[in-house]
Amino acid sequence: AWINLVETRYPEVIPMVSTAKSPTGMVCAVIKRFFAKEINKQPSDLFVVGVMPCTAKKFEAARDQLKFNGEPECNISITTREVAELFYAQNLKFSVEREAENRQRGLGKFDEPFAQSSGAAYIFGRTGGVAESVVRFVASQSKKVSKVTSKMIWELPDKSQSIILREFTADEVNYKAVVCHGGCAVDELMKIYKAGMLEVDCVEVMMCPQGCQNGGGQPKLNKKSLILERVKGLNLHDYDNEIKNCIQNEQMLDYIQQHMPKAHDIHEALHTYYQNRK
Ligand code: SF4
Repeated sequence: AWINLVETRYPEVIPMVSTAKSPTGMVCAVIKRFFAKEINKQPSDLFVVGVMPCTAKKFEAARDQLKFNGEPECNISITTREVAELFYAQNLKFSVEREAENRQRGLGKFDEPFAQSSGAAYIFGRTGGVAESVVRFVASQSKKVSKVTSKMIWELPDKSQSIILREFTADEVNYKAVVCHGGCAVDELMKIYKAGMLEVDCVEVMMCPQGCQNGGGQPKLNKKSLILERVKGLNLHDYDNEIKNCIQNEQMLDYIQQHMPKAHDIHEALHTYYQNRK
């Protein structure tokens, strides 16, 4: 949704937006470009379905920029709420106990190379998680790192949306990141930017208040407190994960080395571009 907003309302910031595809965009690219080859199939033989917390992913799946040889990398994106409705229509129930049991038995994992993931990947689903992942990466490449400080720049009276400044020092270099979530917060952020007062190294924007775990395609929650329970759940997965940082994910590093040995290969498969649609 942020990319849609940038392209249609704030195209002047396109040069500053990361060209990295979204996480689902990267997974779908890997499936169509490399996994298809591994199982001796053509990309068009595979029908890739994204299951996402996000309604904007439906538009993303249809983007011309996310096609490989004319073939959409993601054929269709459905929301988690739609999946839940399909399951309920068939009287199939999710079971937390069964999931925990499967985890204990080492079952229910994704296929390689996606079986191993970092805690940083889990927290992408909540506000502040992407910026924190960047901080973890920078910290892992530095000898001396300070604590991260937080300063509230703006928030709605009910605290459901905010803009927070995070700062830390790594090897004597000071880094600033801004974390912003929710449509009203994004409006405020753009006012700050247009006033020339947004001098930071990294800006994380999530259009949905509290991030993707509260995305427009997620099962609706009656109580706001339950949204924070989802955040706790993601943090718990991060806490439980031995790997905290993407750079520690050896399975993925090997896969990248094998299939995308040159920077150009990574750029081709995992990056994209945007266009002014104002
Ligand atoms: S924050 Fe909302 S709009 Fe943005 S990717 Fe997540 S679910 Fe989609």
